[in-house]
Amino acid sequence: MQFSRCDFFYLTTELRLIYRSRHFQVNRKDRKMTRELPSHAKVVIIGGGVIGCATAYHLTKLGVKDVVVLERKELTCGTTWAAAGLVVQLRGTPEMVRMTRHGYELYQEIEKETGQPTGFIKSGVINIATNEHRKHELEMLESLSESFDIVNRPIDMDELRKRWPLINTEDVLSAYYMPNDGVVNPVDTTMSMAVGARKGGAQIFEDTDVLDFEMKNDQVVGIRTSRGDIRCESTVLCAGMWSRELGRKLGISVPIHACQHMHFVTQPIEGALKGMPILRDQDSSLYFREEVGGLLIGAFEYGALPYGTEGIPDDWQFRELPENMDHLEPLVENAINRVPELADAKIRRITTTAESFTPDNMYIMGEAPGMKKLYTACGMNSSGILCGAGVGKKTAEWIVEGYPKSGHIWEADNRRCFSWMMNIKWLRDRAPETPGNLYGIHFPFKRFETGRNVRMSPFHDRLAEQGACFGQLFGYERANWFAPEGVTPKYEYSFHRQNWFEHSAAEHKAVREGVGIYDLSSMANFIMQGKDALSVLQNICGNNIDAPTGKVVYTQMLNDRGGIEADITVTRLRQDKFFIVTAGATALRDFDYIRRAVPDGAHAFLHDASSAFAMVGVMGPNARRLMEKVTDADLSNEAFPFGTAREIHVGYATPLAVRMSFVGELGWELYVPTEFATGMFDALMEAGRELNVKLVGLHAVDSLRLERGFRHWPSDIDPEHTPLEAGLGFAVKFDKGDFSGKEALLRQKQEGLRRKLVMFTIDDPEPLIYHDEPIYKDGELVSENTHGAYGHSLGASVGMCYLKNPEGISDQWISQSRYEIGVNGKRYPISIHLTTPYDPKGERVRM
Ligand SMILES: Cc1cc2nc3c(=O)[nH]c(=O)nc-3n(C[C@H](O)[C@H](O)[C@H](O)COP(=O)(O)OP(=O)(O)OC[C@H]3O[C@@H](n4cnc5c(N)ncnc54)[C@H](O)[C@@H]3O)c2cc1C
Repeated sequence: MQFSRCDFFYLTTELRLIYRSRHFQVNRKDRKMTRELPSHAKVVIIGGGVIGCATAYHLTKLGVKDVVVLERKELTCGTTWAAAGLVVQLRGTPEMVRMTRHGYELYQEIEKETGQPTGFIKSGVINIATNEHRKHELEMLESLSESFDIVNRPIDMDELRKRWPLINTEDVLSAYYMPNDGVVNPVDTTMSMAVGARKGGAQIFEDTDVLDFEMKNDQVVGIRTSRGDIRCESTVLCAGMWSRELGRKLGISVPIHACQHMHFVTQPIEGALKGMPILRDQDSSLYFREEVGGLLIGAFEYGALPYGTEGIPDDWQFRELPENMDHLEPLVENAINRVPELADAKIRRITTTAESFTPDNMYIMGEAPGMKKLYTACGMNSSGILCGAGVGKKTAEWIVEGYPKSGHIWEADNRRCFSWMMNIKWLRDRAPETPGNLYGIHFPFKRFETGRNVRMSPFHDRLAEQGACFGQLFGYERANWFAPEGVTPKYEYSFHRQNWFEHSAAEHKAVREGVGIYDLSSMANFIMQGKDALSVLQNICGNNIDAPTGKVVYTQMLNDRGGIEADITVTRLRQDKFFIVTAGATALRDFDYIRRAVPDGAHAFLHDASSAFAMVGVMGPNARRLMEKVTDADLSNEAFPFGTAREIHVGYATPLAVRMSFVGELGWELYVPTEFATGMFDALMEAGRELNVKLVGLHAVDSLRLERGFRHWPSDIDPEHTPLEAGLGFAVKFDKGDFSGKEALLRQKQEGLRRKLVMFTIDDPEPLIYHDEPIYKDGELVSENTHGAYGHSLGASVGMCYLKNPEGISDQWISQSRYEIGVNGKRYPISIHLTTPYDPKGERVRM
């Protein structure tokens, strides 16, 4: 075998230089754009990689000419130069696909405008499966591709070998071909956008190191650089793996940890055809593409090597890191298994460098919470080239429009980056898992294994004793299901009914028929108080917050387009004091949204009390019986009606009891100060014993809420959909005075709806659904599932989708058609429901 250890060291300086100059010499003219730094710029972008250049380019397209890009060394010298250039459009969510598609299209056209080619080649991509789970995942992706309008078709082994003659198909179970994807030259692509930005008026400064910031009123007003100072209005952090440390200086959370990332290229191999599709063998953690008659082989491996925990060296510039042979060897073996010719191939070069990864594999974009006009666009998780233009476009929109106008992108929003996430040990511990996760099998409900037990509710140990199997959401350990005695509380992942399905069904049943207790301490709660608190809330909420003390108001926070920014409850504790409850995941976002709505000088103070309270839900037809055993409070309907709240005694604790339910049953949510939490929990469990109270996990809660039709932000409702479209018109009070979005909603009401959220159930009880499965109306693709789960009371999967009709949408229009859903490449008839499919009181709620 010639593909040996010594080959890895057959990399002479000379070869590396040839490689670089081949990529860079064409662009030398554009790179050296050094002039005197202007004293002021409207927007300053820090970092001249693909993201910084894409942002500058798109800002100029939106008419912002006064843009300055500051690059500490040379454009592309951070990570961009090293990329393999894959441009694969299929991503996990519709908005991610749209972002990638923007780059995919731009990279094919931008040469006409800039004269600088990107090197785009439409090679196509082939994905293969070598185990049953992956086979299933590829089937699911076929359906998802249809929702996203991406050609992704199965091919047989003959076609696979024809398209990829070098492949060993012995262990291949299935293969899918996406003919439209391709590759670009990452450096040329970046340069092309840099040229375009410059043509549009932007100025680019290399050899300009950003050293420090001058802040005023939570805004960067001045930047100190190695070339002098510059004043600015908006600042964009596009500094790749340097962004964490710059973020620290700025006082914002940018949780990034770099990992070593590599690819190697062989000398020409017979059978490596020019323009051959990219081959992704994710089960081997590898991708392959043709390069100058040889193969470029890259890896996304579990157990990646973290880099730069203490920071990135000052002199980093096109830096290559020493190869770690022990790390590479298993990957090389995998490569040889897939392409046996590699055993005799000579290695031309190995590129081991570093790339930034985030704890959840998503980008960090948007205006930083708590800051004014400070934006981040970093944490690209080795997809910065394919999504670079899309990220640049959205970032530019954020700056110019105040929000990402082409589509909201919560999954990548920096308002999910809590300050604790900058904990370096946590980032370092999580880092090895993140690259591998990108090529791992994306089982439903799969959770990261590293960096666990960061945030735990006071009940955690008690729940663990009772067999809780935890998942992690934004660091919070939450009981997803409970293993009965004799069963190990551990996920056995699959795409079918997983090992917890029946246990979760029993929890669901307990809530529907008896009584269940669940821990939702991960929910966020804020206290808003002051003379102006009411008016601030009235301005941003659709519902009337001016309710009597003790009343709980379910409302959406709206933007001025009428779109839903948050889905919350507001309880009036006193005349000027409000208790706001929202999802834990969106705590930072929602807090920031409310805080920004407080006018300067207003007497309204917002406090995040999430860590001060734990919360349990006591839910089910027997909830009152259980509660009556531990409280002296009158819990009758008359004394404690639905939608009210007050402090009651439960055991020795005095929680705020809120008569609300996210599961559609009689029950109370008990918000208890954390130091009283376990005592209260024990009292409830003790009292519930006679009633066979069951601990309930969040999988069951999701099933319960969904079949009852309760919406969830951001899957079912989001900033681009209004309460009227989402069937939440009952929570909008037009007669309460002015509020954000009122005009837009009145207009929508007048003109009539063109989109409407409906529920559906699959007629066949077998298929499981999660999100984004395609929905067909009379055979035509019209929508996708916003979120789905198995409804155990309904005995079928249940989901939601928006139906659209530009002519106006009516119940009759909806009802006259036949609907189907695509699951794993197969279509199943579905029934559309204009009322909630499940209602315990037999009163069907109108949507
Ligand atoms: C081996 C490998 C293969 C890859 N393959 C692909 C692929 O096939 N497809 C794909 O889409 N992606 C791929 N990637 C990922 C892609 O290269 C990155 O996601 C992308 O280049 C990140 O771009 P960026 O602009 O965020 O960061 P960078 O390119 O690192 O740019 C950040 C810039 O900020 C500058 N900077 C930092 N601090 C300062 C400061 N204080 N002052 C001024 N400037 C500063 C740096 O010098 C740097 O140039 C690959 C990455 C690697 C390593």
